[in-house]
Amino acid sequence: MSKFTIVIHGGAGTILREHMTGDLEAAYTEGLKTAVDTGFAVLEQGGAAINAVKAAIVVLEDNILFNAGRGSVFTKKGVQEMDAAIMSGATLEAGAVAGVRNVRNPIMLATEVMLHSNHVFLSGKGANDFAIKQGIKLEPDEYFFSQFRYDQWQAIRHSDDYALDHSVQTNSNEFPDKKFGTVGAVACDINGNIAAATSTGGMTNKKYGRIGDTPIIGSGTYANNKTCAISCTGHGEMFIRAVASYDVSCLMEYKGMNLEDAMNEVVNVKLPKLEGEGGMIGVDADGNWSLNVQSAPGGLFIETGRQAGPCDGPGEIGSSQRRLRSVEEHVGLRL
Ligand code: ASP
Repeated sequence: MSKFTIVIHGGAGTILREHMTGDLEAAYTEGLKTAVDTGFAVLEQGGAAINAVKAAIVVLEDNILFNAGRGSVFTKKGVQEMDAAIMSGATLEAGAVAGVRNVRNPIMLATEVMLHSNHVFLSGKGANDFAIKQGIKLEPDEYFFSQFRYDQWQAIRHSDDYALDHSVQTNSNEFPDKKFGTVGAVACDINGNIAAATSTGGMTNKKYGRIGDTPIIGSGTYANNKTCAISCTGHGEMFIRAVASYDVSCLMEYKGMNLEDAMNEVVNVKLPKLEGEGGMIGVDADGNWSLNVQSAPGGLFIETGRQAGPCDGPGEIGSSQRRLRSVEEHVGLRL
């Protein structure tokens, strides 16, 4: 295996065209580029896909612009409850957390669950207790406060509505444009091992301890070297019902579809039947990658990917062989 690839996404939802300014695009570009470069550097040094996706997600969780970690949306009760998952396609090991609070990097906690808990999926207070036991970094509530998320929440907090973070339009003049989303990463390393990771604050104004698709293995996140690594974003309830990411894997394994066709089937045929809004990114063990977001009106999907090869080993890649697919080429804005 010689080709290695990382693709990340920054969420799906609805944003008004007038809010897509140059500043907004620049902020997206910078945040995504830093994350993809961080993950790519791991792969370039011969590192494992699982470490690359984790490293990319940590960068996005630390960026207040994205709905994950620091920039997570507000629940009905006005707090942040975060979900995350990570999975290795090489071993089928997985770790996930749901409804965790004050954890700086939920993807680190999910990784700890995978490696050191003897379990796959921890939630709520128990997950927080495990975070403390493992020495995972916690932050006070103030760390997670952002005015634009607060304004998004104010717009719907007195209703029973809940919304994708991109989809809440507010009158805030301070941060009118900064509606960024759930984050995900998929990667294929030089050994042909693949991995997926996804992290989110979920949906604005969610209640009753609602958990979305993100931490559910096979729905929002899945990886299997035999088929693909997938990270989803969108209205989680429908991705859960569609078992979306595992379905892509099944279409590849049992029907012999390639990555692109399998993702197209799930995103553009199966999910619309459930009125599911969103998209996904994927890689296979040959380093091929694909993204798919519904072509229905009202969607924003942001991704960037980086691929290099062929090479004989770490550090032997000529720059002419390196391909950077820029955010500008792949920001999908459909209004
Ligand atoms: N899928 C996430 C959830 O339902 C939200 C998102 O992708 O923005 O929690």
